[in-house]
Amino acid sequence: MNTSTHTPSAGGASALPCIAVLATGGTIAGSAPDAANTSGYQAGVVGVAQLLDAVPALSSVARIQAEQVASIDSKDMALSLWTTLAERVDTLLADDAIDGIVITHGTDTLEETAYFLQLTVKHTKPVVLTAAMRPSSALSADGPLNLLNAVTVAASRAAHGQGVLVAFNNRIHCARDIAKTSTYAVDAFQSAEIGALGWVQDGRVEFQRRALRAHTVATPFKAGAAWPMVEVVASYAGTSRVAVDALVAAGVQGIVVAGTGNGSIHASLQQALTEAVAKGVAVVRSSRVGSGHVMRNGAAADDALGFVSADTLNPYKARVLLLLALAAGQSGAAALQHTFDTY
Ligand code: ASP
Repeated sequence: MNTSTHTPSAGGASALPCIAVLATGGTIAGSAPDAANTSGYQAGVVGVAQLLDAVPALSSVARIQAEQVASIDSKDMALSLWTTLAERVDTLLADDAIDGIVITHGTDTLEETAYFLQLTVKHTKPVVLTAAMRPSSALSADGPLNLLNAVTVAASRAAHGQGVLVAFNNRIHCARDIAKTSTYAVDAFQSAEIGALGWVQDGRVEFQRRALRAHTVATPFKAGAAWPMVEVVASYAGTSRVAVDALVAAGVQGIVVAGTGNGSIHASLQQALTEAVAKGVAVVRSSRVGSGHVMRNGAAADDALGFVSADTLNPYKARVLLLLALAAGQSGAAALQHTFDTY
């Protein structure tokens, strides 16, 4: 991990908050052969110092301590890197000299990393993720303003105790609620139905609501080295039981179903999942729809089948919570349902 400190030249800089910027790669650190190219680029090739140098206005917002934690396309995010990140965030925030953290990340798995940190970081200081849809070399690259806004949020008193946040396209989102909803648009993230927590513009940070689900210091979860095997399967017209049977044979401990509608599951898949539950596999029903919650089906279904419902978590976020819950030793549908109702 490379560490450097960017000391602003502006007078009175020592009065500014100190923000640690942890870079992990992504399109925000991407580069293409020409400025009109916004899709044929390589992610994660521009270093954190260059990203910061592209935003001179940072010097009037914060003192920046920069670290290159990784240089990856976030499609390749690994659980081991999540652990490294969570531990680094906790170490930095334990230092009185650090006032907040910004993490630059790829957009593809940003929502998973953000929710993982929301559940595992054990501090109330701000942790803010940001990203970009256009590479740093592009005309109208969105990374520099997103980075400035993320540092502005992290440096703000208003962000304390709000859990892990995502600053993107002028909005401030809760890590639990945000998801990528466009493959190409600059406004690529939404907190569907729930909405953003607030906005950041021209140095002003405005929160309009708070996250109510327990997070950070109010969770029992921590990043670790040993992870259970938790996978996602989907339900669709003509689904077979092949994937579930293969996963059970491979030793899977948890399965999240990207169900249709309100987490409904094709009969063939449901039969395989019911047999998996009988073998001790935790099964969580989520939805592939992209907004809305998955209701618990009560005695009629979930109780009888031993399934858990994921509330508003999409399948990939539900997987994060199930990973952490199983790693913490939780078991049984009732205990896991309590967890999904709490976090
Ligand atoms: N594939 C890139 C990544 O997730 C996409 C992006 O950052 O927009 O790293």
